[in-house]
Amino acid sequence: DEFIVLAEGAALEAGPEVIAERLLDVLRTPFHVRGDSPNEITVSASVGAALGPRLSADDLLRDASVALGQAKEEGAGRYVLFAQDTPQAIESRLALEAELRTAVEYEEFSLRFQPIFDIDRRTTIGIEALLRWDRTKGRVLPPDHFLSHLEHAGLLVPVGRWVLREACMHAAGLHERGRPISVSVNIAAAQLADESLPSDVADALTSSGLDPHALVLEVAEMTLLQNTDFALERMTALKALGVRLAVDDFGVGFSSLAFLRQFPVDILKIDRSLIASSATPAESSRLVHTLVELGQTLGLEVIAEGIENAGQLDPLILANCDAGQGFLYGRPLTAAQLDLFLSMQDEPARSGLWVSQPT
Ligand code: C2E
Ligand code: MG
Ligand code: MG
Repeated sequence: DEFIVLAEGAALEAGPEVIAERLLDVLRTPFHVRGDSPNEITVSASVGAALGPRLSADDLLRDASVALGQAKEEGAGRYVLFAQDTPQAIESRLALEAELRTAVEYEEFSLRFQPIFDIDRRTTIGIEALLRWDRTKGRVLPPDHFLSHLEHAGLLVPVGRWVLREACMHAAGLHERGRPISVSVNIAAAQLADESLPSDVADALTSSGLDPHALVLEVAEMTLLQNTDFALERMTALKALGVRLAVDDFGVGFSSLAFLRQFPVDILKIDRSLIASSATPAESSRLVHTLVELGQTLGLEVIAEGIENAGQLDPLILANCDAGQGFLYGRPLTAAQLDLFLSMQDEPARSGLWVSQPT
């Protein structure tokens, strides 16, 4: 008995209140369950709305449901817009932030490593380090649930520093055991804005002894678009350390070739939404082709994200995409699972089974 309405673009021009009122109006109209039934039925509804960008869909839904709770308290047939500064919203945010502070203190964070593979040879060429919160009360949470709160609590930089060190240590260990693959670490806007980032990266490299070329720092296209001024300066400083730079989640921000060219990047990661596109196979393979070509024209290595099935891989093979990442090849793995994954690949009988050939 709860429904979600997503309104975008022109629908919002007159404000969310208009949409909420219209919905309530429609629902207020009495109706007959069966056309011939003489009894009219009336239902009441409450609407809670949250407006504006959030770091994740979950955040937006959480805020809308806080507003819905208030609307219900005020009685049937009402709507409430979420306000960041209601006592309830502030309280729940503060509680979560306090929990995160404890989590940092007790080191409740861990990393998963998702393999990145060479599309031609189908071998693992790298791993991406992905943050998890091993919350004391049970669930392991993915970053979408807590990154924005870490940032709000001023903890993103210290946690990011820990991720850098941990990821470099792990990769250095793999190198020592004869697996010279790269490790990618995600860098959020708040980290990029922080002056200590280049020295944090340098420290992680020195303390682990990892070859700088084996470290890839991923910055989202949106982050570059929204923070072009300091992004350029910071990325130039990072590049000077000998690390490689990637544009993450590329293709959703509509940045241009000229825009991309300003940044000293080495790798383009095509966003999952474009790989999983619901367009027809012909359309999506043209799209993939165009994006791969764009990256390669700029002299960049192109990695496709979120490859879940062979149908999504085939156009990438045809487009000559360099590398891929996704559940088809490997999910984010714990360190122990990754070791097993890599050693299974050493057995030739086991490799090459997972993927269909292009037809
Ligand atoms: P991302 O950097 O684009 O990472 C890829 C995300 O896609 C990961 O989600 C991964 O689990 C997921 N994924 C990979 N393959 C597939 C697939 O085939 N299908 C689907 N449906 N999903 C797939 P995850 O781990 O939840 O991370 C989400 C985002 O959080 C990351 O997106 C990245 O932007 C951010 N993040 C992760 N770890 C860190 C970190 O240590 N620091 C910062 N600043 N951000 C991080
Ligand atoms: Mg990434
Ligand atoms: Mg991505």
